[in-house]
Amino acid sequence: LRRRTCCRGAGACRFSRASRWSASAGSSLLIDGAFVESQSAEWGDIVNPATQETIGHVPYATLDEVDAAIASAQRAFQTWKTTPIGARLRIMLKFQDLVRRNLERIAHTLTAEQGKTLPDAQGDIFRGLEVVEHACSIGTLQQGEFAENVAGGVDTYTLRQPIGVCAGITPFNFPGMIPLWMFPMAIVCGNTFVLKPSEQDPLSTMQLVELAIEAGVPKGVLNVVHGGKTVVDRLCTHPDIKAISFVGSTRVGTHVYNLGSQHGKRVQSMMGAKNHAVVLPDAHREQSINALVGAGFGAAGQRCMATSVVVLVGQARDWLPELVEKAKALKINAGHEPGTDVGPVVSKAAQARITALIDAGVKAGAKLELDGRNVKVPGYEHGNFVGPTIFSGVTTDMSIYTEEIFGPVVVVLEADTLDEAIALVNRNPMGNGVGLFTQSGAAARKFQSEIDIGQVGINIPIPVPVPYFSFTGSRGSKLGDLGPYGKQVVQFYTQTKTVTARWFDDDATAGGVNTTIAL
Ligand code: NAD
Repeated sequence: LRRRTCCRGAGACRFSRASRWSASAGSSLLIDGAFVESQSAEWGDIVNPATQETIGHVPYATLDEVDAAIASAQRAFQTWKTTPIGARLRIMLKFQDLVRRNLERIAHTLTAEQGKTLPDAQGDIFRGLEVVEHACSIGTLQQGEFAENVAGGVDTYTLRQPIGVCAGITPFNFPGMIPLWMFPMAIVCGNTFVLKPSEQDPLSTMQLVELAIEAGVPKGVLNVVHGGKTVVDRLCTHPDIKAISFVGSTRVGTHVYNLGSQHGKRVQSMMGAKNHAVVLPDAHREQSINALVGAGFGAAGQRCMATSVVVLVGQARDWLPELVEKAKALKINAGHEPGTDVGPVVSKAAQARITALIDAGVKAGAKLELDGRNVKVPGYEHGNFVGPTIFSGVTTDMSIYTEEIFGPVVVVLEADTLDEAIALVNRNPMGNGVGLFTQSGAAARKFQSEIDIGQVGINIPIPVPVPYFSFTGSRGSKLGDLGPYGKQVVQFYTQTKTVTARWFDDDATAGGVNTTIAL
């Protein structure tokens, strides 16, 4: 973060114009239907993690700019909330078509600013696109309920009404998918929205936002502000914000949940993880090991659903050398290079944090089976690379087990029985995702019933639910009852109103005053 003044004034930013990666919106703010350059004196760099090229700059919006975005959303809500369902969903139909047609272009920007491989960047956007597709079903998703004759001549029914201005705060690791978890569903329900993307990689998110405007999202219905804690805290405390969707670390998500709740807002905080994969000896050996390697090291381990702990049960202990061999064979390179398996991590700070945790694991006495420190990638010598790293002999008190490393590091633990493995997973404070690898239906049924984790995969390494279900989480991975997308998010973004109604016939006889509650 630094101070600079060269971006003052619309269109004056040479960086966002010059960069071949940037969208025309660059890292502008979107306020009241217009992409505008921030007047802030504080800006951060957007850096390509493979090359260290500065590909853009992001403003830390002023509080006046945040307030202007919220005021615009508040004004727009007055008409948007009564806009017919068909008009709302037709904008989403257009939006999904535009995202589909621009997916490859946006994926290039995403890889350039985030580091993940190009096919993975396409997947990132595609998983968000599926939520936009689902938003097109709002006609049936937002229906209320009706019961006729709950008493003589009395009917009861529910209305699901939008709640007002909602805010979204997103992390760096899925700049395509996670913003698309939020604003399409919020606005298709009749709300207006203020989005605060990750300051580390906002360019691809802004390209999606541009497409939403092109699709016909009216002025003020979607706004974007950039920044960090100051901006987030304003969103959490502003009286006109009614609901906040947060995705990010447990530390920040807990802060957002507490601050937003104290200020009377609905908050859903989807947070950090330490995802275990439990491997029983009867599992399909090759499929399981392939799945573990893909889920542990894909996206350089920077997925909230990455497998970061492998628990080998019984004779599955013997599978460790094969796991190490497969991980060793992965190709580390810049994300845009064809055939890359593992790209760089997002920043020098992330690289230093991950490396320090690996050092701590060695110091604590875990056995370093595969060391990803100090990898050098020809042509990308300055890239933030950490290669696949595997520890065995890990105990639950080591920081490589207790902390979310959020890098390409897998720690291997052992258990004698399925019961022991379930107890181990349930003792970990995080509850985001878990996998079980087995060919036994009975073991799988017991596991899914007893495990206290939001997303459970049975021979599925990264069980992110499709958009007609909801993403969930338990314990340290989630605060708030309702998860993103699916049916739950329609509840989150709407207020249920229950109407009990009686209509009198002209010739009905009056029954007199009744001061008792009806029996
Ligand atoms: P982060 O918590 O650092 O940042 C998330 C957002 O909060 C960003 O927009 C950031 O600008 C803002 N922020 C950062 N510091 C803040 C502060 N002190 N006060 C207020 N706001 C602040 O997370 P990240 O590093 O961008 O993302 C990685 C984390 O996100 C990991 O922990 C990962 O597990 C988690 N994640 C969770 C899910 C899920 O669904 N559970 C999905 C993706 C990522």
